[in-house]
Amino acid sequence: MGKVTGFLEFEREGPAYRPVPVRLRDWREVYEPQDDDAIATQGARCMDCGIPFCMQGCPLGNRIPAFNDAVFHEDWSRAAAQLFRTNNFPEFTGRLCPAPCESACVLSIASDPVTIERIEYEVAEHAFANGLSVAQFPIVESGKRVAVVGSGPAGLAAAAQLRSAGHGVTVFERNDAIGGLLRYGIPEFKMEKRVLDRRLDVMRETGVKFHTNVSVGDGGTPLADLQRNYDAVLLAIGSTIPRLIPVPGADLEGVHPAMTYLEAANRAVRDGSPSPLDAKGRHVIILGGGDTGADCLGTAHRQGAASIIQVEIMDRPPDERPADQPWPTMARLFKTTSAHQEGGERRFSTETLSFEGDGVLQEIVLNDHVTGETIREKADLVLIAAGFTGPELDRLGLHAPQNMTARATLQVDENWRVASVPGASPVFACGDAVRGQSLIVWAIAEGRSAAAAIDTALRGSTELPAPLSPYALSW
Ligand SMILES: Cc1cc2nc3c(=O)[nH]c(=O)nc-3n(C[C@H](O)[C@H](O)[C@H](O)COP(=O)(O)OP(=O)(O)OC[C@H]3O[C@@H](n4cnc5c(N)ncnc54)[C@H](O)[C@@H]3O)c2cc1C
Repeated sequence: MGKVTGFLEFEREGPAYRPVPVRLRDWREVYEPQDDDAIATQGARCMDCGIPFCMQGCPLGNRIPAFNDAVFHEDWSRAAAQLFRTNNFPEFTGRLCPAPCESACVLSIASDPVTIERIEYEVAEHAFANGLSVAQFPIVESGKRVAVVGSGPAGLAAAAQLRSAGHGVTVFERNDAIGGLLRYGIPEFKMEKRVLDRRLDVMRETGVKFHTNVSVGDGGTPLADLQRNYDAVLLAIGSTIPRLIPVPGADLEGVHPAMTYLEAANRAVRDGSPSPLDAKGRHVIILGGGDTGADCLGTAHRQGAASIIQVEIMDRPPDERPADQPWPTMARLFKTTSAHQEGGERRFSTETLSFEGDGVLQEIVLNDHVTGETIREKADLVLIAAGFTGPELDRLGLHAPQNMTARATLQVDENWRVASVPGASPVFACGDAVRGQSLIVWAIAEGRSAAAAIDTALRGSTELPAPLSPYALSW
């Protein structure tokens, strides 16, 4: 423990945001940097409480008190060593995680939690700046080959772990670039793509091979071919089928799933060209009050929308923990993201009744559940951010009851194996394809755990850590 009285002396202090008018003119990340002394002070707030609930709150089991102590002593190399033991990509989670660890921090019972996520970010950035996040080569090559299908955080974490165990790893991605939702879902203002590219460079250096524009299944490379050519196959294909809102007018021009919009926006930023679905000058309605909706909001602000309303069917969440979501669970609370600070209107308890227009969207009709009022809003771009219904199993020929859970995700056994799929080599699965739409930290934890299971299947035993069993529930 860094400073015994630290939690009594210092207040929680996160990084400052860049001013809204400045950050709306670019796509860069929204935070200002924090200096090392400020971060060390935040590390000093960790009480080293004895039973670190924060570690239990983290699906990866990050050794949080250990790196908080190292950060307090400004020993960045010790902090990095602790963090990389449990997390392949702290530079992703340090920017993007909703931090269940902070909800579980003991200090949060009576005060504000330690800024664990931001400390993680700083440790990861110091590691890259000081050459501590360099490629770790395996000591012995196993001679075994593993195909990973899908290059989101689950596939990438599994690939990194399997390679560290000496297996030859090839990642197949149907898109034109590696990263899954980190590449084409999450906007630059939450995580700049250079952060992803920097990590991919490290992975390439260790020998992980990446093949883009390769769709496995339907019309592309058959799954059975991968099974013949590799000793194991891991499906990390995400949960990509959008949940739509099937009300009258849903097929009008101007109504789009959120991911269609966000992918086009991410490509446009990369290419320096306007997006084919640009919100500039348009009246935008976002249906869905969650994080994907907030990503659409921040994107539409930067594109120069004329107006934006974010609509949520559920009631406004409370500001304080309700009794049925006690510490240390991750409660559903009212959240103001950076995108909400930037403007737009939010409506809760509001249902979509129809989209109106003559071929092209002109209006949306809503119903306020609280007042019972019917509301008509001018709209020429509607973005449906209502989540995802599951992975695209039909494309892989796996859309059959024996392969699927009741939630239409891939059914794995206790060793992450899709045991119902026959073939020359075993098929495993992890990430959103198994869990359903979730979080990056869960995807990384599942990727690490599936890698340990594959290593065991290939070698008879493993030294790779497995933070999760396939049946671990999200908090
Ligand atoms: C807009 C958006 C924002 C989000 N923001 C956050 C956030 O801030 N923080 C957070 O923790 N979580 C966030 N999430 C959730 C998080 O991104 C996911 O939980 C996580 O990416 C899941 O990882 P994955 O590897 O399982 O799947 P994905 O990231 O979805 O990757 C799956 C990959 O598999 C590829 N694929 C699919 N089928 C095939 C096939 N047949 N052949 C080849 N390749 C295939 C896909 O193209 C894709 O690249 C967000 C989600 C969305 C949609």
